[in-house]
Amino acid sequence: MSKLIIVSNRLPVTVSRAGGKINLRPSVGGVATGMSSLSEPEERLWFGWPGLADDRLTPEAEQTVAQKLHELDCHPVFLSAKDVRGFYSGFSNKTIWPLFHYFVQHAIFKEELWESYKRVNGLFCQTISPYIDEGDTIWIHDYQLMLLPRLIREQAPHAKIGFFLHIPFPSFELVRLIPWREEILEGLLGADLLGFHEYDYVRHFLSSVYRITGHEHQLSELHIEDRLVRVDAFPMGIDYDKYADSTEQPDVQREIERIGANRDVRLIISVDRLDYTKGILVRLEAYDWFLTTHPEYRGKVSLVVIAVPSRTKVDQYNELRDQIEQLVGRVNGTYGTLDWTPISYMYRSLPFDKLAALYNAADAALITPLRDGMNLVAKEFIACQHEKEHQGILILSEMAGAASELCEAIVVNPHNKDRLVGAIKEALEMPQEERRRRNRLMQSRVSRYTVSRWAHDFISNLNDIRAQQEDLLTARISAARQEEIDKQYHAAKRRLFLLDYDGTLVPFVRRPEDAHPDPQVLAILKTLAGDPKNEVVVISGRDKETLGAWLGDLPVNLIAEHGAFFRTRDQAWDEPVPVETDWKRIIRPILELYVDRTPGSLLEEKDYSLVWHCRKSEPDLAKLRTQELSDALTTLTANLNIGVFEGSKIVEIKNISVNKGEAARMWLAKQDWSFVFCAGDDYTDEDMFAALPEHAVSCKIGGGSSKARFRLNGPAELRRLLARFG
Ligand code: UDP
Repeated sequence: MSKLIIVSNRLPVTVSRAGGKINLRPSVGGVATGMSSLSEPEERLWFGWPGLADDRLTPEAEQTVAQKLHELDCHPVFLSAKDVRGFYSGFSNKTIWPLFHYFVQHAIFKEELWESYKRVNGLFCQTISPYIDEGDTIWIHDYQLMLLPRLIREQAPHAKIGFFLHIPFPSFELVRLIPWREEILEGLLGADLLGFHEYDYVRHFLSSVYRITGHEHQLSELHIEDRLVRVDAFPMGIDYDKYADSTEQPDVQREIERIGANRDVRLIISVDRLDYTKGILVRLEAYDWFLTTHPEYRGKVSLVVIAVPSRTKVDQYNELRDQIEQLVGRVNGTYGTLDWTPISYMYRSLPFDKLAALYNAADAALITPLRDGMNLVAKEFIACQHEKEHQGILILSEMAGAASELCEAIVVNPHNKDRLVGAIKEALEMPQEERRRRNRLMQSRVSRYTVSRWAHDFISNLNDIRAQQEDLLTARISAARQEEIDKQYHAAKRRLFLLDYDGTLVPFVRRPEDAHPDPQVLAILKTLAGDPKNEVVVISGRDKETLGAWLGDLPVNLIAEHGAFFRTRDQAWDEPVPVETDWKRIIRPILELYVDRTPGSLLEEKDYSLVWHCRKSEPDLAKLRTQELSDALTTLTANLNIGVFEGSKIVEIKNISVNKGEAARMWLAKQDWSFVFCAGDDYTDEDMFAALPEHAVSCKIGGGSSKARFRLNGPAELRRLLARFG
């Protein structure tokens, strides 16, 4: 039976020590609820830090904790007090947390914190690895463990790994600041599926991956080595029924009365962890301004602020607490009366029933984080309005991930104090019918995509991407296939090799002129072509001068410009096939215009084609201009005998009659070849693949759909294959 292995920084159990006794208390957070709703597989293991630094535990106590946790299918990863400081309070909460929430000014970049982060991710990997069996699913959670997918992949290359980030993924402009950005992205890319709360985070992640590691995605899927990696949005939900049914709890009404809310004083609630990302201070300032500018509401409205203690070991959090408490004191001192307190402030965490009672009692919830990955409080508040007589209305920051689903809320920019004041007034004055209408729409969404749907959806996508990977793997050259190919090769009397050059025999480089052949590829081609039974043909889109200069000394045949020029072994280039080139006059000025408008791009003129290169341009601009250029040219060339082709960072315009398929056919027709081998990496090579006889061994280098029979990762793998034939 396969297992589900869940990995998160903290276990879903709080371990504490009191008077030498160890106590375990299961926590019922969102992730734990989602995980427990997954029906398959039967066996479930959870790995994480139990919350106690192991410097404080004797080996015996550690063993007792581990044993007790095992009974709950939890496996502790013990951290030293030093690592808790470096990895958790340090790199996770002082580097990644502020930066990923756009608080650059709070982010610190310290080598020793990074070292600790790496060490602890490694420790998680060491602890988990012995438990991984074939077929298991490993689901890693959150920003503390971003290196873990890659580390596990190195230990268990075929493991099924999912990763979910519970905080925002910021724009490339912030990610680029991290000195260890490549390692972090490569760490994440060890997963098969990467999940984020919303599509903006997906976009940012893909853009950072592209700019930093060079991996380009197609419809949110990336080819990393021989794996497919999918990146998608899975907005985490809540246990809807638990909140929707809370109205019926008998103690709810009592709670409302205890809070002191009679229907004359309207209640606005504000519920968050005390964190600078939550915007509590700006929110209080806006409420203060609301009372100043709207005296008619004094005595008629109360703000209940729940600030849940959080990261109390980090200075900023303590400073923020002082600031909040001072402001609460000032507002209450300024406006409060004997029978009215403008702000009720609680610095504590409320248990579920009290929190639900508060959600139920509120006329409005003021949830205005400056940045928030999702914000579950907003969804819980909406669920609690289910079938209530007095509907509460949600004021929600557009910077919360939840805003993309809760768009019927009063959506605000949390930095805009005037807008916040307007939103408070709008909320207080909104008619019941309108509140109900808005809430119904949001409730139908929140009740459908619950935390359990979220977990199922993620796992089903993970299985799906693995199935796609299996399809890809079937196109890999297995050991058995390799043996067959070897046999076929040795038995053959006449063998033909049709090989593309760029991206196939040699890797891509930023400047096309730097892609000259290295000694290894020259040696492989020389040996291969040295066998009298072999005919090696390099078929390239490059011009004949470059090909001649780079490969002309080898006993290989050359085809330049996709079939416009032919050269047999060490002879001179044949007379070119007459091809009409008048069209260049019309097309060249357009390409020149695009060169001017796209910094870093350049125009290459070959005898029979024009190529616009944009490998060195800013990637998004290059994409946009490629699209524009292709559209413009397609219309313009409709009546000319030329085609417009989008390749890897190029747009090429050439005569349709000249293509690699025709060139390959010419070589294929020369003899009765008993072994044909063909390799290529881009769209121009597909014409070659289509022209091959059935018995040919055709290899596509890299990802994307192809007519080739087999798939290779890159030039290095092709070289290894060719070297076997030598
Ligand atoms: N919460 C709680 N007691 C409180 C305040 C909040 O149990 O007094 C819970 C709340 O129900 C929610 C979670 O804490 O499920 C906060 O999640 P959210 O996504 O809003 O913010 P985070 O703290 O994860 O940044």
